[in-house]
Amino acid sequence: MDILLYILIPLALGMWAQMRVSGTYRKYSEVGARSGLTGKDVANYMLKRFGIHDVEIVPIRGLLSDHYNPTNKQLALSEQNFYGKSLAALGVAAHEAGHAIQHAVGYRALKLRMALVPITSISSQMLPFVIIGGFLFGIAGLIQLGILVYLVLTVFQLVTLPVEFDASKRASVQLRELGILESDEMVGVHKTLNAAGWTYIAAFVASLGNLLYLLHLTQEE
Ligand SMILES: [Zn+2]
Repeated sequence: MDILLYILIPLALGMWAQMRVSGTYRKYSEVGARSGLTGKDVANYMLKRFGIHDVEIVPIRGLLSDHYNPTNKQLALSEQNFYGKSLAALGVAAHEAGHAIQHAVGYRALKLRMALVPITSISSQMLPFVIIGGFLFGIAGLIQLGILVYLVLTVFQLVTLPVEFDASKRASVQLRELGILESDEMVGVHKTLNAAGWTYIAAFVASLGNLLYLLHLTQEE
């Protein structure tokens, strides 16, 4: 029963969120925005409005591989969004520009998230040991290590939530204020960004579920 609650339900939520984001993205990738601007243009306008001139906007390969890297100040947009003129492309580009703005204005949750990156990546590297030794073989020491690892990952995913929702909020505000999209076009943007938001909620729930499951294992002994 416990495995259902802690592991399988979060897993199902994650799969649902992933399917939803792919479906919504695909749908609004086919709806062109009336402005005729590309994702790159939109990101560019937003950065300029905030007086940000040291962020480079680059196209990258892959589906929904879009991200902002604060260490080299690179705003990477997947080719489909960099060159694209759809509601989905503009929404995603504006969201990533939202992260660059967070960085420029010193948004606290982003700073905290950046500070957590080194310990989070070390924790991620330990996951194979924890999963095989802890979950599968029930080795006590690795269950203990797993609790630490998932504690770090859960905190990281939790801090990621305000960062992601704030970037989407900044995207919506800017797309309207800069007159890039009209209110009827914002529906598609909101749906795309909300669907993406759910994948971060699912990631948090999955980490928390793993953490609680391991804690539960130590209680049984
Ligand atoms: Zn984001």
